[in-house]
Amino acid sequence: MSFQNLGLSDALLKAISEKGYTTPSPIQTKAIPEILQGKDVLASAQTGTGKTAGFILPILQILSQNPPQKKRAIKTLVLTPTRELAAQIEENAKEYGKHLDIRSTVIFGGVNQNPQIRALRNGIDILIATPGRLLDLHNQGELSLKQISILVLDEADRMLDMGFARDIKRIMDLIPAKRQNLLFSATFSKEIKELANGILSNPVMVEATPENTTAEKVNQTVYRVDKGLKTAVTIKMIQDENWTQALIFTRTKHGANKLCEKLEKAGIKSSAIHGNKSQNHRTKSLEDFKCGKIKILVATDIAARGLDIPLLPHVMNFELPNVPEDYVHRIGRTGRAGASGEAVSLVDIDEMPYLRGIEKLLGESMNAGVITGFEPTNEPTKNIEKKKNFRRPGQHANDRRKPAAKTFNKAKR
Ligand code: AMP
Repeated sequence: MSFQNLGLSDALLKAISEKGYTTPSPIQTKAIPEILQGKDVLASAQTGTGKTAGFILPILQILSQNPPQKKRAIKTLVLTPTRELAAQIEENAKEYGKHLDIRSTVIFGGVNQNPQIRALRNGIDILIATPGRLLDLHNQGELSLKQISILVLDEADRMLDMGFARDIKRIMDLIPAKRQNLLFSATFSKEIKELANGILSNPVMVEATPENTTAEKVNQTVYRVDKGLKTAVTIKMIQDENWTQALIFTRTKHGANKLCEKLEKAGIKSSAIHGNKSQNHRTKSLEDFKCGKIKILVATDIAARGLDIPLLPHVMNFELPNVPEDYVHRIGRTGRAGASGEAVSLVDIDEMPYLRGIEKLLGESMNAGVITGFEPTNEPTKNIEKKKNFRRPGQHANDRRKPAAKTFNKAKR
């Protein structure tokens, strides 16, 4: 399959070839012809599958078929959960639409609204927005959604996770009932299905990777490591294996800061991004990471969601997420669009239930290996104290927490 066969215009084909893409990704092959036919689409696709081009290309084509009005009205609304994702979609819309007369802009919270208002007043065709700022500017009378003919909900599952369900409902009341709807989600919970039922009409289902399965070409490795040794293991891995770049996930903002500090102390250029960091800090960190100024980006799930970092070689779960679906999202940052990647998870004994939850979701078992020199005590943190005095007859006191003899064992690859 080639981009030419998908029915895209010469102006788009030129932009695609200038980007260096030769073959459409599976989601693009499946979604583009359906969207061009005006159908509603329910797509199961995570970041890294090429989903953004999968909806932006046909939208650009549809919009470019009508000559621009003198006073442009917003015709496409793309809703996204995070500022970073919104910015990346807009970047994509500008790149793919560079040979077309289509204007797009992006609005999100956490930054001065005035430049956004100025862009809106100039008249635009495609608006990419996070729900909060969209409603805010709408309430101020700075934008109208009455001419919307295409609605995209990107990363819908994450929007629900972040509590945007009510905002989405409010937005639905502001846009015309007759429109084309495209909904993208990495996972399909009951809530997502309900949302989709309420918004889409007779949707075509398209899937990039089967529901709740991890992306192909990601080597997944799990190591059992005690909590207190995780930082040392991380530093050793980065240094010994000469990692060029990695995204490391922590469960908490505080954990992200702490790890980042320790990595910096060890001479590894790092930055932490999470909800407490300013938008400017997050944008700068992402830029520095993309151009290689920093080696490690430490992030919480929400901050990292949807980041477009092509060809990321390593993703590490410093801590496992307590929501199994987040594991799928996290490792979707590596092994992107044809390149292979490695996802390493460090799991302490208290996190074993999370690992079981992930295995259940994926329907496969993930054998946890151990790293020589960092063997786990195999004791839950809370039980170590309780069992302090327990010793088998003949066992030396120093031996009692030694694990079963096992050396370096690369787990499932
Ligand atoms: P996305 O899933 O939209 O975040 O895209 C993931 C990455 O794949 C981005 O860096 C895109 O620029 C890139 N990409 C999208 N489509 C293609 C394609 N057909 N061939 C190669 N790379 C692509």
